[in-house]
Amino acid sequence: MMRFALLSFLTVTALAAQDRFTRIMRDILIFDAHIDTPRYFVDEGYRLSDRHSYYELDIPRMREGKLGAVMFGLYAQPQDFPPERWLPRALETLEALHTEVAANAKDMEFAYTAADVERIHKSRKLAAMASLEGGHLIADSLGVLRAFHRLGVRYMTLAHFASNNFADSMTGMQIHTGLSPFGRELVREMNRIGMIIDVSHISDKAVLDAVEHSRAPVIASHSSSKAIAPIVRNMPDSVIQTIAKRGGVICINFHAGYLEKAAYDVYFHNRAARDEEIKRVTDNRPLDWERVRAIQRKYFEKMPKVDVSVLLRHIDHVAKTVGADHVGLGSDFDGISGMAPAGMADVSKYPVLVKGLMELGYSDADIRKIMGRNLLRVLRQTEEVSKQR
Ligand SMILES: [Zn+2]
Repeated sequence: MMRFALLSFLTVTALAAQDRFTRIMRDILIFDAHIDTPRYFVDEGYRLSDRHSYYELDIPRMREGKLGAVMFGLYAQPQDFPPERWLPRALETLEALHTEVAANAKDMEFAYTAADVERIHKSRKLAAMASLEGGHLIADSLGVLRAFHRLGVRYMTLAHFASNNFADSMTGMQIHTGLSPFGRELVREMNRIGMIIDVSHISDKAVLDAVEHSRAPVIASHSSSKAIAPIVRNMPDSVIQTIAKRGGVICINFHAGYLEKAAYDVYFHNRAARDEEIKRVTDNRPLDWERVRAIQRKYFEKMPKVDVSVLLRHIDHVAKTVGADHVGLGSDFDGISGMAPAGMADVSKYPVLVKGLMELGYSDADIRKIMGRNLLRVLRQTEEVSKQR
């Protein structure tokens, strides 16, 4: 009799959880701050309309995972292109993104404002936005920055893997000890025109400078927690607290190597050999992308498996440290060479995070904030600061 009662109690609890999950998923806005797909439009003719068994984003899988809005990243890593190609490459990638969104107008629309994102989401379409990864892409010109804003770019990461004339990168030479005077001017101009300041990739001191000089909250578009995984690309609690105190949001990176130190160590140890093997393929024309992906997979398999529960641990840590108002998602999908955690292979898997947050005891309101509303809030606040001058 006792066992029967317990069993029916468990069934009722499971059914209630299922109801709650269905209710949340019905209209949740899932908004990812950093996905790098656009380079594939340019390099491989990758089409968003088709379902793929490789890479991490296309429209069918966005629909499956209820991913409603994406900040697409435009980038040209300083070491991959000569300086005279940085700006053209960013523009070509942005143009390809606009073309791809227009080609899928029945499913997707380009968003310029927070209100656009809300409206597009309500119309059951997917919202696409653009962002720039690295101040080196604007050729040291605030005029170019303004032109990018006009073309729809809504955040810029101040530096990428290398330091530039605006800011020190956390992985580059420490030239300015934070932001340069020109970097502070850049921050003021971004505030004025309504572009979010992204502090992923930049040195801890540069983050503190950016937060101090910005009138709007900042985001870390794709950064994980150094307290959970002590590796160079992650953010320490002290920096996370500074960002949160001024209303900012830390969007957690899904890269398996950034989530767990043991995985990073294997990744780091093999990276030069992997890149050398890839270079042997990419030196030849036409490019054999399938071969490149096979090499990436081979090296990924050498890394210890990182479960999606570890990703949830990063989210939970930031939420516990600074509150659920200051954590979001910045998967870095299509920028992590396939190194996604087990159970989070691509954008079709976001519902796993909703379930995970439910199990960790988060309220419906907090789940909605973490999955997208916090990022949308900073976008809106950035627009408001721009109007206030
Ligand atoms: Zn990045």
